Formats: sequence, C-alpha cells, structure tokens
Amino acid sequence: MADRYLSFTATAPGRFLTARLGLPQPAALSRWTAERPALDGHLLHLTAGGPSGLDLAPVLARTGLPTTTETAGADTGTEAAGATAGTTRRAAVVLDATGVRDVDALAEVHAALHPVLRSVAASGRVVVLGAPLDARDHHQAAVQQALEGLVRSLGKEIGRGRTVNLVRLTDASAAESTLRFLLSPKSAYVSGQVIGVGAEAPDGPVDWILPLIGRTALVTGGARGIGAAVAETLARDGAHVVVLDVPQAEEDAHRVAARLGGSALTLDITAADAGERIAAELPDGLDVLIHNAGITRDRRLVNMPAERWSSVLDVNLASVLRTTDALLAKGALRTGGRIVATASIAGLAGNAGQTNYGASKAGVAGLVRSLAPRALAEHGVTVNAVAPGFIETRMTAAVPLFIREAGRRMNSLAQGGLPVDVAETTAWLAHPASGAVNGQVVRVCGQSLLGA
Ligand code: NAD
Repeated sequence: MADRYLSFTATAPGRFLTARLGLPQPAALSRWTAERPALDGHLLHLTAGGPSGLDLAPVLARTGLPTTTETAGADTGTEAAGATAGTTRRAAVVLDATGVRDVDALAEVHAALHPVLRSVAASGRVVVLGAPLDARDHHQAAVQQALEGLVRSLGKEIGRGRTVNLVRLTDASAAESTLRFLLSPKSAYVSGQVIGVGAEAPDGPVDWILPLIGRTALVTGGARGIGAAVAETLARDGAHVVVLDVPQAEEDAHRVAARLGGSALTLDITAADAGERIAAELPDGLDVLIHNAGITRDRRLVNMPAERWSSVLDVNLASVLRTTDALLAKGALRTGGRIVATASIAGLAGNAGQTNYGASKAGVAGLVRSLAPRALAEHGVTVNAVAPGFIETRMTAAVPLFIREAGRRMNSLAQGGLPVDVAETTAWLAHPASGAVNGQVVRVCGQSLLGA
C-alpha cells in the first residue's frame, strides 16, 4: 500500500499545505542503490573530552567520504571553517565522545555539535561514539549514559530524514562494519539506536563488495515481505540463499529463489524436526541463519483463545529456539556464522491486542541476549536481532486505515520503513566483519515513539 501522504508532501503544494496546517513533513529517504552506494557529501570527524585512544581516522577514511577532522573546536582541516559556517554539505558528523568522563567534558559534546548541525544535509548522519559504562566510576557512567539521552533527543528533533545513533566501542577496526553501515544509505531507517560493539577486530582481509561470497544463508519466511527482501540483499552481498517457507507458499519461494540463483526449501518451521531437516538439506552446513518467519493473531487477552496464543508463540519463538538449538548441536553453523532473529518493537514496547505477539518477540530478545556470549564462545557464531517498527508489507497493509496512518507517522522520520531497511540491517549483522557485534537487538523503526 503506497504511502500517498509521503508522495503528496514531496510536491510544492503538498509542502506548502502541510507546513500551514502544522502536519508532519516526512523527507523522502535516500536509500542504497548500486548507482548511488554512498552518502553524498563530506564527513566531519569531531572529538570531545580529549583524545580518545581510538584509531578512528583510517577507518573513517575507508568509508570513501572525504573527511575533515576537528579536535575540541580547533580547525585542522582545510574545509572546516566554511563547513562550520554552513557552506559545505555535510553527509555525516562523527563525534568521538569516548573520552568524556565528567559533566564538564560533556559540555564539549554540546560545543562540538551545536555549530555544525545546520550543515548536515538531508538524509545525513550523526554518529556519536561512546565508551562502555565504567562500573567503577559513576561519573564516567553517568555522562556516558547521558550520551544516550542526547542521541535519542537529537534524533527526535533533527528532521529532514537525518538519523542520529550512538555506538559504544573500544576498538575502531572492530566497529568498521558498523560505522560503514551507519555512515551509508543502507541505514536510512535506523535512528535513535545504541549499539554496543566488542573489541574483536576481523582477522584477515574483508571483501567489502561481496562480503558473503562463498557463504550459504537460510532465510525462514523468505517467500515474501521482509524475508524476500532479506534474501535479495544477502544474495546481492554474494550469498547462496536458501528460501524457506511453508508448503502453501511453495510457488513464491521458488520464484524468489530462482530470481536470486538460490534454492527453495518448503518446510513448516514449527515441525518438531525442522532443524534436522534443514541440516539434512545443507550437508556442508550454513553460515547465516535468518529467523524471519512470523505471524500475528491479534486479539485482546480477555478474548484470546488458547490456540491464538500458542500458534503465535510456536512460530515466532518456540521454533526459533528449537531450530537454533538443533543446528548448533549438530555443528551445522560454521565458525564465523551469524544468527539474526526477528523481534519487533511490539515486543519491546508492548501493543494492545498483541499480548501473544509481544510475548513472542520479547522472548526473541531474551534468547539473543542469553545465547549470544555462549554461541560465540562455543561455536564462533554471533546472535543478534532486528526489531522492525512499522514496515510497509502485506502485514501492515491489512491494518485498518486510521491505525495504519498513525503507525506510519509516529516515528522521528514520520514514515513507514521498507522491507529493504530491515534487510540492510540484517545484512550488516550477517557481515563477516561484524563478529564484534553480538547480543544486540537493533530497532529498524525510524525511532518509533513506541517504547523509544
Ligand atoms: P509476512 O506475513 O509478509 O511474511 C511472513 C512469511 O513467513 C510468509 O512468507 C509466511 O508464509 C512465512 N511463514 C509463516 N509461518 C511460517 C512457518 N510456520 N514456517 C515457515 N514459514 C512461515 O510478514 P512480514 O511483514 O514480512 O514479517 C516478517 C517478520 O518481521 C515477522 O517475523 C514479523 O513478525 C516481523 N515484523 C514485521 C513488521 C512489519 O511491520 N511488517 C514489524 C515488526 C516485525
């Protein structure tokens, strides 16, 4: 279902009318295309709180964006003065605030961002880098946590399709895949997020063009909607994709697989032996497991028969637990493997009529947080989740008009996301260079007002 309001506000009369009426004015987001794979403009690298110890410059240089560096307000770059005055187009600002340890240093964050925000282009990026909270220093922990409040608030006020995210890190190379993602058009619908990245830098060279070449990825529920977009994006990144879906969706599953040069597997993921059947189908193992299949059976709890409860819990949570356990136990996920499960903001914030769905998706987040450290230690496999907000699919096209309109607008970008937004986020988590991203639940929700 096309977002006609978004198209209308892109016209001159639409802009005029919505501005006069004080209505939301969503900006058309720039998304990744093969022709325009990078943001358009310069990257400004700022530091607050003194030198951080991160070796960030080479990593930022590899984003391909021309970079200007400024430290504590002093210009060291050639275009810095003009840019600060708003004459250079900023595609992105990266503020390294890892060295901020007290409230005085926090003022440097304000001093660094305040003069440059106006120069950030539409669909531009603000990425703040923070340090892990120090359990032995409550002043450091207070101001590092303060960065979250700053980032989430700035995300809500910055407008024009611009996003603001916080990355907590200790090693710049370990965070390269994350920074490349956030500093690219691929993260168009990811805003207001706090992402923790560990210290394990990738060993060996990384193919940034076809990162998944030679790897096999299985996408459950891949015949349509978000799953089909995930399959397509992983295939773009070089993976051989296995599209798994229920027997009723066999035709669609084959069509998607044929288009991507992959294969189809018709299987109800709730089958008790689903894990064993996947392992039998892929005797050489797999590298990327995407738990995307999901259903809704909405009804308020007082009216909800047990069958509606259990069918949702079975598809969305129990089958994810069962197949993950079976595939890990069989060693079917190769070292360096990636598991990405699909949660939902309904599981993080709650939603009326969705106690079953919300429970199942919150369960996915719990599974990820508990399993991630063990799966990495025992199998060399990371486990993360994406938590979509309002995404334009058949699922949301079926929502009644008024609720659908509210769902679309109630986020900082004032529009619904597209399946490709979830797919790009999944591809970043599935990336061979994302081994230091583990146990994260990343929302793809345009910074939804729900539970933000
Ligand atoms: P969709 O209904 O369009 O597609 C889901 C796919 O999963 C279908 O192809 C379906 O046949 C398949 N499937 C369902 N049960 C299955 C089973 N037992 N075994 C194998 N395959 C099965 O849904 P979508 O909107 O693309 O959502 C994909 C995922 O994203 C789901 O987990 C959903 O809960 C989640 N999600 C979606 C949104 C949104 O706004 N669309 C928001 C948050 C989360």
